[in-house]
Amino acid sequence: KAAQTIESTFLFYREDMNRRAKEHLRLESEMRLALGDKELELHYQPKVSLDTGRIVGAEALLRWKHPRRGMVSPGVFIPVAEETSLILELGTWVLDEACRQIRAWEDRGLHMPVIAVNLSARQFDAHLPERIAAVLERYRVRPDQIMLEITESLLMRGADNVIAIMDQLVAMGLSLALDDFGTGYSSLAYLKKFPISTLKIDRAFVIGLPFEENDCAIARAIVTMAQQLRQEIVAEGVETAEQMRFLRELGCDQLQGYLFSPAVTASEFEAMLGEDRRLLLAALT
Ligand code: C2E
Ligand code: MG
Ligand code: MG
Ligand code: MG
Repeated sequence: KAAQTIESTFLFYREDMNRRAKEHLRLESEMRLALGDKELELHYQPKVSLDTGRIVGAEALLRWKHPRRGMVSPGVFIPVAEETSLILELGTWVLDEACRQIRAWEDRGLHMPVIAVNLSARQFDAHLPERIAAVLERYRVRPDQIMLEITESLLMRGADNVIAIMDQLVAMGLSLALDDFGTGYSSLAYLKKFPISTLKIDRAFVIGLPFEENDCAIARAIVTMAQQLRQEIVAEGVETAEQMRFLRELGCDQLQGYLFSPAVTASEFEAMLGEDRRLLLAALT
């Protein structure tokens, strides 16, 4: 009886795994088609300066408009893509599209703030600097117009060549931000080893501000440390005026979140810049 139960449990898991594996395969092949079929889009979420209330940057976020599934979240398809080489193709597409868009904006006389692009750890190999240099050249985009957002998992690989590649990117004039800070395992002291100019406090710690004591303590510690290391500090996922006030008092530099704007299409972002809308003031009133 017991053996039978174990066997059927096992079968259940196996079927479940099969189903998930099939679902992954289907997503993966659909993503390959999406790359060719213009189903992918970059949206842009403004980063707002706490000093001036102005838009001082934007994060490019990948969107997949699937003909049947509707809008598929990158939280779903990026992890699937990361299991295969597809993430490299997606990453190439994202960098190319961001630079193409910056060129188009500049050609229309717009003064663009720094655009941040998310990089998967798998994109981080010895050829990354030359690949990025080629895209910058193709679109005549200055390296200081691009920031690369990386995550702690990359630092944890700890390899010397990761630092060497980062140094090369910084020498080229790009800047590096550490995304989702606080969710990984990198120690604070460890951070000094990497040429990172910006820390992004993860939304997980912003959510509880200013009411959750632990979140307040963590946010305060992260901001204090970033200041000591002379890093800029950006808070992600800011949704309320209370969170904003708390982060301003801590001395945070920039905020990003639905309080100001979600990620919007390129043309909506352009309109926002054009209006020079003071998002911070708008959020306060
Ligand atoms: P991330 O880089 O940490 O991006 C921030 C995520 O938080 C975005 O989700 C953004 O839409 C969301 N967000 C921003 N403000 C708020 C807020 O106030 N409240 C809430 N609830 N959410 C907020 P999104 O666009 O779904 O992206 C999820 C993740 O997918 C990103 O997290 C990033 O890790 C990954 N991703 C997105 N685009 C790319 C890409 O082009 N390449 C790679 N490798 N990863 C990407
Ligand atoms: Mg990011
Ligand atoms: Mg993040
Ligand atoms: Mg996050």
